[in-house]
Amino acid sequence: MKLILLGPPGAGKGTQAKMLTDRFRIPQIATGDILRGAVQAGTALGLQAKSFMDAGALVPDEVVIGIVRERLQQEDCSAGFILDGFPRTVAQADALQATLAGLNRRLDRVISLTVDADALVERLTGRRTCRNCGRGFHVLFDPPRQEQLCDACGGELYQRDDDREETIRKRLTVYAQQTSPLIAYYQAAGLLTELDGMQAIADVQEQVLAALQAA
Ligand code: ADP
Ligand code: ADP
Ligand code: ZN
Repeated sequence: MKLILLGPPGAGKGTQAKMLTDRFRIPQIATGDILRGAVQAGTALGLQAKSFMDAGALVPDEVVIGIVRERLQQEDCSAGFILDGFPRTVAQADALQATLAGLNRRLDRVISLTVDADALVERLTGRRTCRNCGRGFHVLFDPPRQEQLCDACGGELYQRDDDREETIRKRLTVYAQQTSPLIAYYQAAGLLTELDGMQAIADVQEQVLAALQAA
């Protein structure tokens, strides 16, 4: 299964991806997680990415394209993968296409999750993220069993710096301008399934699984 989860910040990509990795035993490739890891580790990549991320802007294409190109060639991607948060521009989508063609592989499906702007802001302001494994929770919609601790790994939950209202608005604008053209892009490629992301997490999951079965 080679899959892209597409959708604005807060649409539920990471939440759905984590459930799919458990089910299909294929890795989630979340460029945001990789970049945050690099920032935390203080690597050259992290230093390069931090100011863009703090501002709610996209990290330059060539940086993220390089990350994904390398990642897709690792052994654990041989059975498939779930791209979460990549591609985010047409240039990234073109580069992905070229990389996969070079590996003699192609995408099975692109699932786009649609969620109202107000709900996105509500989801992102209440999001809490595990410092250790990157799993997302929500203070109201998906609370952890134990306050401040990750259900999956026991790691500490924190609020991402960019999950504050002002940066959230910026990220939603960036999505509308730079990423939403990918909906038509993958529609034209015959790969797109659009799903209603406004339903409860388990109901969205059911729709995603149904879409994958049809793929
Ligand atoms: P994305 O990866 O698309 O930015 P997340 O999966 O991190 O989004 O979800 C954003 C926030 O919304 C998280 O706090 C998550 O717990 C919550 N969430 C995800 N899916 C739903 C849903 N279907 N209904 C309500 N809240 C959700
Ligand atoms: P969300 O899905 O909640 O918007 P992510 O964790 O996917 O958040 O991304 C966080 C930030 O990391 C983005 O605002 C952007 O600065 C950077 N980033 C992640 N993925 C990409 C990408 N494919 N291209 C450019 N920047 C990216
Ligand atoms: Zn965790």
